[in-house]
Amino acid sequence: MTEIRLRFPPSPTGYLHIGGARTALYNWLYARKMGGKLILRIEDTDSERSTEASTDGILDGLKWLGIDYDEGPYFQSHFAANHRAAAQRLLDSGHAYKCFCAKEELEVKRQAALAAKLPFVGYDRACRHLTPEQIAAKEDAGLPHVIRFKTPDRQGMLGYNDMVLGRIEVNYKEIDDFVIVRSDGSPLYLLCNVADDIRDRISHVVRGQDHMTNTLKQVLLYEALAAPLPIFAHIPLTLDNKKAKISKRSHGEVVAVQFYKEMGFLPWAFNNYLVLLGWSPGTDQEFFSRDELISAFSLERINKSSAIFNYTKGDAKFFTDPKAIAINEHYLRTMPIAELAPLVEEELRQAGIWDEAYADEKRSWFLEVITLIRDRFHTLKDFSTAGRAYFAEDYVIEEKPLKKNVAPYPELKNWLPLLADRLAALNPFTAERAEETARAMAEELSQKPGVLMNAMRAILTGQLAGPAMFDILLVIGQETVVRRLRQTERLFPAQ
Ligand code: GLU
Repeated sequence: MTEIRLRFPPSPTGYLHIGGARTALYNWLYARKMGGKLILRIEDTDSERSTEASTDGILDGLKWLGIDYDEGPYFQSHFAANHRAAAQRLLDSGHAYKCFCAKEELEVKRQAALAAKLPFVGYDRACRHLTPEQIAAKEDAGLPHVIRFKTPDRQGMLGYNDMVLGRIEVNYKEIDDFVIVRSDGSPLYLLCNVADDIRDRISHVVRGQDHMTNTLKQVLLYEALAAPLPIFAHIPLTLDNKKAKISKRSHGEVVAVQFYKEMGFLPWAFNNYLVLLGWSPGTDQEFFSRDELISAFSLERINKSSAIFNYTKGDAKFFTDPKAIAINEHYLRTMPIAELAPLVEEELRQAGIWDEAYADEKRSWFLEVITLIRDRFHTLKDFSTAGRAYFAEDYVIEEKPLKKNVAPYPELKNWLPLLADRLAALNPFTAERAEETARAMAEELSQKPGVLMNAMRAILTGQLAGPAMFDILLVIGQETVVRRLRQTERLFPAQ
């Protein structure tokens, strides 16, 4: 059996976006499933639009996602000689020819064909039958030329079997004698891409449906270059919820993989979201471990129709597709703490609130806090923002709890320090005794216990909601609880 070899060949002309990452993921999954190889090729032939920064961004995004490759990165620009050799082979074998028609002349003919409503508006093949003498004469006269592919003069349909879409065909008559080398001698992308896939012995080409118009022409190139045709699988485009193409220009950062890294998504959770964007397992399983996904994945189950990135710009409730958030929450709240801890550590380090003791004498405390607070969190960022009070003193007391639970009770200014004194006296400091103390004090003050508890939550964590109040007291610890309860100026800033 021939080796299974797939490739991910991004053009480094921008950021790694959701669609590109999904293509990379599908290729990776299939290569891993089949025990094949994944090759990374940076298609940088467009030297004006390609940038190093873009290449770095793509590599960084793949690394973050955990999409590893077995060969590469190869750079398409390093293989220019190979591309030119392929063009020369086509010329030598009579599969291509030099075309000396001037651009202006072609445009005049094209307009005339359009005006006459001809069924096929392509090159009229004027140079296809030039004799060697005519060619030599034109070359001697210094006329520039492009090289065109000589589409076979056949009846019937040209086609291939797409693993996703089934049989794809077009009538030979509709295929133009397309250009493969520009007049400056540089081969076109269409040819470079095939020459590289042949050189890299690619067995499966899995890419977006936007490349389908190229594929039929490329099928002809494989045949003419006497190379075996790879298996093609074209994956659906990713559109927004108004069926428009997604792009950074119209949707912003939210379509870039980098955004999810910065927002504190878990890389695997994001892969799990991406894979469902255009593929379904055929069961109702929604969450997959790496191994489960590799074994469940198949090219045949890729959807034929477009995938929807369900994002509404300006929606304050969902900063991205709610499904992406829900999947992330699921992993954040259920993954083994031992796997989550290093990611939280990284987040706290970046936020400048990591304490080396969390890796050492405070390890079990650290793990206990993560377990306690992760239930309401959406992304890793929450550990340094909503969860900041557990790790640092410079946490923000949010507007909502201040308005709802503090402002209506100005007396809290006196009550909380009093409660602090009573909690300071507890020995041992247990959840039950702390709770009894707070309830007894509320009763003395003829207040509902909730008045004290909610205010405690506000001043101790800055949040309106969170874990059970007395669990919070225990992890924050007696000394810190007492100190914070006395900082009532944080609730009632001097007017
Ligand atoms: N370089 C192309 C792109 O970034 C990929 C083409 C292909 O997969 O064959 O869209």
